[in-house]
Amino acid sequence: MHKQADEMEFAPNERIENAVKNFAVEQDDAAGQAMTEAILMSAVNSEELLAPAVPAGEDGKPLDLEYMTDEQIQKFLENDEISFAIHAVTDDEGNDWMPVFTSPDKVMEGEVVDVMAHQIETLMAMAVDTGMAGIVINPWSDSLNIPAESLQVLLSSIQAMNDEDGESLEGDINLIEGDIVNMECDAIVNAANNTLMGGSGVDGAIHAAAGPELDDACRELHGCKTGEAKITEGFQLPAKYIIHTVGPIYDGSDQCADDLADCYWNALNLAIDYDIHTIAFPCISTGVFGYPMAEAAEIAVDTVLTWMDSYAGEYDMQVTFCVHDDEAYQVYTEILDEELTDEPEDPQN
Ligand code: ADP
Repeated sequence: MHKQADEMEFAPNERIENAVKNFAVEQDDAAGQAMTEAILMSAVNSEELLAPAVPAGEDGKPLDLEYMTDEQIQKFLENDEISFAIHAVTDDEGNDWMPVFTSPDKVMEGEVVDVMAHQIETLMAMAVDTGMAGIVINPWSDSLNIPAESLQVLLSSIQAMNDEDGESLEGDINLIEGDIVNMECDAIVNAANNTLMGGSGVDGAIHAAAGPELDDACRELHGCKTGEAKITEGFQLPAKYIIHTVGPIYDGSDQCADDLADCYWNALNLAIDYDIHTIAFPCISTGVFGYPMAEAAEIAVDTVLTWMDSYAGEYDMQVTFCVHDDEAYQVYTEILDEELTDEPEDPQN
C-alpha cells in the first residue's frame, strides 16, 4: 500500500544510497561503475526503492492527474496491473523524471507525499515504459539522474544476469533501442567507412562522444577494407573498446551480403583477442550505405548466431543489437523470435 513517508517502515537501501553519495563526491569512472554495480546487485537481490505515488480510483484512473502528461496517463491506463501513478519531477528543459528514493528520510527532505515501495527493476521498467526522461534517485539531496537509455542497458544486463544459468542462447543475445554510444559493455562496434576518419550516422555519433583522441587513434590505423575490422580504445565512451568495421555499400550482389557477414564475423574474432565478452552492434550498412533493414538484420543475426554456435562452451560472448528506431526494433524482434525458437542447428552439418 502507499503510505506517507513519515509513517513508513522501510529499511533504507544503503547499497544504492552510498553509491549515489559517493558518485556525488567522486564523479569518475570508478564511482560510475560502483553505481552501476549497486543497481545491478540491488535488482538481482530484489531490493526495493520508494516512489512517490498517487493511488488510482476504482475506475482505474489516477486520482491526481496533474503531474502526468496525457500520453503517460494513457499508458498507465492501458496497463491493468498498475493502479497508481507516479509524480514526475520536471527539469529546466521540461523533461519529466521519475523520482525514486533510497529511504523515507530522503523522501522527507522535500514535500511530504505518499510513497510506495517497489523493486528497483519494476521502477526502472516503469520509467522507460511511460516515456519518462529517466529516473532521478533522491532528488532532494545527493541526487543522481539515470537517463532512460542507460536504464534500458541496465534492464538488459539484469535480464542477462537472471538468465545466466540458462543454457539457451537467448540470455547471450539482447536487443536494445537506443544510442550505442551509451552502451556500457566491453566493446561497441562502429559502422565506419574506409578512411576510419569519422562520418555521418552512428560513426559521427561515436567520434563525437569518444572525443578527439579517437580521431588520433584512427589516423594511425591507416583505413580499413570493407568487411574487415580494427580496434581502438573507447576513450570518453563507457565502452572500453571500439571495434571499427566497414560495411558494404548496398548493390544487391552476393559479394555485398558476404562483406556484411564478414563485418560481424571479423569484429567478433577480433573481440576474442582483446578478451571482450560483451559487445554491441549497430545495424551496419543500413544508413547511408543503403542496405535494406530486413535483409541486413537477417545477415547480422544469422552470422552472430553461427559464430556463437561455433564458440559455444569455449568462449562466453554476450551480443547486443543496438538499434536506433522503432522500425529496426520490430524487424530484429521478429527475426530473433524466429531464430531463437527454432531447433538449434548442429554446427557439424
Ligand atoms: P552505414 O554507413 O554503415 O550505413 P549509418 O551510420 O549511416 O552507417 O547507419 C547505420 C545504422 O546505424 C542505421 O540503421 C542508423 O539508424 C543507425 N544509427 C545511427 N546513429 C546511431 C546511434 N547513435 N546508435 C545506434 N545506431 C545508430
